[in-house]
Amino acid sequence: MERIFWVKCPKCGDRFCCDYELRHSKLKLICPFCLEQFLDVDSLEIDERL
Ligand SMILES: [Zn+2]
Repeated sequence: MERIFWVKCPKCGDRFCCDYELRHSKLKLICPFCLEQFLDVDSLEIDERL
């Protein structure tokens, strides 16, 4: 099973999960709810539980 992590969108506050390959990368995450693009470090919360 692929590892994922959860982020919280800084714009709309909704949570969604991303592939762990995007963690600590310079690639922006895209919120599926409001389409905001942001880096993982800009997330309001990061949950890396397995
Ligand atoms: Zn959003």
